[in-house]
Amino acid sequence: MSQLLNLFPPGSATDADGMLVIGGCRVDDLAAEFGTPVLVVAEDALRDRAREYAAELTSRWSNSRVVFASKAFPCTAVQRVMVQEGLGLDVAGGGEILTALKAGVDPALIVLHGNAKTTEEITMAVENGIGLVVVDGPDDVDRLEAIVPAGRTQDVLVRIIPGVTADTHAHVLTGHEGSKFGLAPAAASDLIRRIEHSSRVRMRGVHAHVGSQILQAQPLAEAVAPLAALGEFDIYDLGGGLGARYTWADQPPTVAEYLDVLIGAGREHLPPHAQIIIEPGRSMVATTAATIYRVVTVKRGQTTFVAVDGGMGDNLEVALFDQRFEAGIASRLDATEGETVTVVGRHCESGDILVDDVPLNAPRVDDLLAVPATGAYCYTMSNNYNGNRRIPVAFVASGTPTLVVRRETWDDLAARDVS
Ligand SMILES: *Cc1c(COP(=O)(O)O)cnc(C)c1O
Repeated sequence: MSQLLNLFPPGSATDADGMLVIGGCRVDDLAAEFGTPVLVVAEDALRDRAREYAAELTSRWSNSRVVFASKAFPCTAVQRVMVQEGLGLDVAGGGEILTALKAGVDPALIVLHGNAKTTEEITMAVENGIGLVVVDGPDDVDRLEAIVPAGRTQDVLVRIIPGVTADTHAHVLTGHEGSKFGLAPAAASDLIRRIEHSSRVRMRGVHAHVGSQILQAQPLAEAVAPLAALGEFDIYDLGGGLGARYTWADQPPTVAEYLDVLIGAGREHLPPHAQIIIEPGRSMVATTAATIYRVVTVKRGQTTFVAVDGGMGDNLEVALFDQRFEAGIASRLDATEGETVTVVGRHCESGDILVDDVPLNAPRVDDLLAVPATGAYCYTMSNNYNGNRRIPVAFVASGTPTLVVRRETWDDLAARDVS
């Protein structure tokens, strides 16, 4: 069995002829039905992950809830799975409020984030009865006091900067001193006192988020004590940030190991009856999906470049913060006899690399190339660079594929270009 298979969604396999099978669907069949590139989500793996998170959290702290950080994969179908599994949704902006509501979430279970929420977005939150608005600074409170109608209140959390760093790319650190997100503890205390005297804004708790793709539990738990130091509240939202396994080298803690450490800090510092919220994004979705490309050219020289029909238009993780992925030829995953190549995209940047230095088994034009662990932040950062049509998303389960986001059309591209 190919080692690479371990990085594809749980339940993936290879057919007798070697073709990769995800959710019971052969990827050559998926490519024929939906075209390439296509983002393939193993629905059972997604549901299992949501259940695992919910069960592991409530078994450690009964007054608790898991809120999926929608921005990691903000399409209605993914949000709907989370809602069906009983999770809440964290949203970052108006568009994610809309897809969350379309996914059928109880608005009371939505948590709105953002370091620059517009008046329009705060109005949407208040009008739709969003459960918690996470206040990032005094301007959010000004806006809420102006927008919340007399006789009503909006529940809020205050986001603090816990002053914690972790071993991850600087671009995805958020809880360090000097962060643009949240308030330093002294400023947060002042704002909390102001909110406690407000007739429109109701103080419910505090929030911190250390960063993303963090492969140790300890830094995530270090945010708990600074939150506790702000006082006793109903709710402590401990953010997300757990890393996912993209490559052989990544050894993230399991959800159970992560929560042992995080909730251990909770037991040490937090009032026993408070509610704990966690907001996993990346670690919920990354390894539940894979992207299937078609090889367009193979150029052999000093470096062998295998160029596919996608790239930074559907996966910005590499260019934005050097995320390492793996890849395999879908019909010949096992590359023990392979050559080492650089898989590149079709975009006009030398930084448009999908995977550097990866062994592939005799790559040829028209082969299908599969990249595992593309479930987090790829869909959401997809873009139209070089006239790229954003790629479709297909759910696969028990051998049945379902298109949940269609490919953008040339007409879609032209539709906004109004003059
Ligand atoms: C991005 C984000 C998350 C999720 O982070 P992951 O690294 O994807 O788990 C959670 N909370 C907030 C406030 C965020 O900005």
